[in-house]
Amino acid sequence: MNIVPAETRAARLAGCLPACWLLVLALAGHAPGQPARPSLDIYWVDVEGGAATLIVTPAGQSILMDAGWNRDDARDAERIQAALRDAGIDRIDFFIASHFHGDHVGGLRALAERVPIGQFVDHGDSVDQSSERGRTTWEAYLQAVGDRRRSIRPGDKLPLRGLEFSFVTAHGDTLERPLMPLGPNPHCGGSWPAPVESGENAVSLGYLLSLGAFQFLDLGDATVGLQLKLACPVNKLGNVDIYQVPHHGNGVAPQLTWALEPTVAVINNGPHKGGGAEGFQVVADSPRLEDVWQGHRPLDTDPAYRTSDELTANLTDEDDCHGHWIKAIVNPDGRSYSITNARTGASRAYLSR
Ligand SMILES: [Zn+2]
Repeated sequence: MNIVPAETRAARLAGCLPACWLLVLALAGHAPGQPARPSLDIYWVDVEGGAATLIVTPAGQSILMDAGWNRDDARDAERIQAALRDAGIDRIDFFIASHFHGDHVGGLRALAERVPIGQFVDHGDSVDQSSERGRTTWEAYLQAVGDRRRSIRPGDKLPLRGLEFSFVTAHGDTLERPLMPLGPNPHCGGSWPAPVESGENAVSLGYLLSLGAFQFLDLGDATVGLQLKLACPVNKLGNVDIYQVPHHGNGVAPQLTWALEPTVAVINNGPHKGGGAEGFQVVADSPRLEDVWQGHRPLDTDPAYRTSDELTANLTDEDDCHGHWIKAIVNPDGRSYSITNARTGASRAYLSR
């Protein structure tokens, strides 16, 4: 499906194929009269080693990929709500499940009880249904989303106003063709390992958001094998400005990371989850990288493989943690952006590539 901006397609809805449901839903889900905002905002909400990445577009549309953990105290839902309040948003237009693990969709039920959610997007049925844990997570997801669940394929797009939101991986598949002609990826060399992988991480949904020159890539917990499918022999994605490092910073393929040439990497690790030395080194060795931001100081990792405290949102162990987020504010023309550490209020500014 290749959807052009919603406004230009509205008149064609009568002849719409079933696959263009996303467009219909986006039109239906957008609050009339939503005021234009001064920026595109991205929040990496701290869910202690899980994921919850909130995007609010300049047109006021909201997309949340993942919702943290299932907890009796609904901690992660409340942290997401705090980010929504900060953004001046009271609903989520699209919830996207990157994959069906407890650190990504466990918190969905509590969130859905507190915040109106328009539609639920995922990669397809869980591939972890043979284990009790996997089946429980999957069934809880189905219960939370009801009949508002839709599965996408690589190449599908959310028709958001004024920006491109393209799904690049889903259910183990990737884009068939590169987004731009870049030729062979020199970081692949003559051959590259093709690990045999199974489980939900290997089928993670991933997306690329483009606003003018600005590009943000979030691949959920994509495994090394899935990253290689995007990278070798040809990098299918081009360069990006901000890269949410897959799988909380563990299992990072240099062939993809170095070909993406991110300016900024964000690692959504917890105090004892993700943020490993090997992944950090791969990211740090990426050409043109300026900064690595981390959700947490990784307490079990050698300090040589951590970013600075200035670029770390949370320094303590989970029990003492205040759940500070990292926030990117992207100029609506896409030419520049800043990233803020909510713990300190300090920001750094960057130019888009
Ligand atoms: Zn995870």
